[in-house]
Amino acid sequence: MKKILILTAALGSSVCALAADEHRQHGAHEHGAAKLMLAQDGKDFQISLDTPAFNIYGFEHKPDNAQEKELVDNANALLKQGEELFLFPKDAQCSLQEASVETEQHEHGDEADEHEHEHGDEADEDEHEHGGHSDLNVAWHFSCAQPLEAKTLTLTLFDAFDNLKDLDVEYLTDSGQGAVELSPKKHTFKF
Ligand SMILES: [Zn+2]
Repeated sequence: MKKILILTAALGSSVCALAADEHRQHGAHEHGAAKLMLAQDGKDFQISLDTPAFNIYGFEHKPDNAQEKELVDNANALLKQGEELFLFPKDAQCSLQEASVETEQHEHGDEADEHEHEHGDEADEDEHEHGGHSDLNVAWHFSCAQPLEAKTLTLTLFDAFDNLKDLDVEYLTDSGQGAVELSPKKHTFKF
């Protein structure tokens, strides 16, 4: 009897670990976490970031006052300075062509309920009062004169945005594809 109990407990915990892993893979709206895609086509590199607005602004409601408005404007301006946020090797001679920031407000209702929300801080209640969560989609287009030299990418996003802790990266380049998880401690990857 005791054996069965132990076995059940062991199974139970591995299922939990799996579920947690799956949750991360799917990248539901989770404060602190975000997704980044890097796609190469010859000299062109497209980078797109999908993140809860919380990671960038510290809140997700529409700015209520001048101070919040300024904070959002400053953060958006910083996001658009892609050459500061993404460092390709110098020899690749990459330059930013275009950057865009789009906000996506979650609607309350069935669709929003499907997203799993995780919050570990007191901001949670405040966000709910203001009506839900929002995401940001940020896109950057780089052109690299020597794309063969563009084999690594270093991100300064974690320094620029303290609330960002965990970035799931997927890349599809001329030399292959893969995925990597970045954090403030590991913010460079090869592709
Ligand atoms: Zn949220």
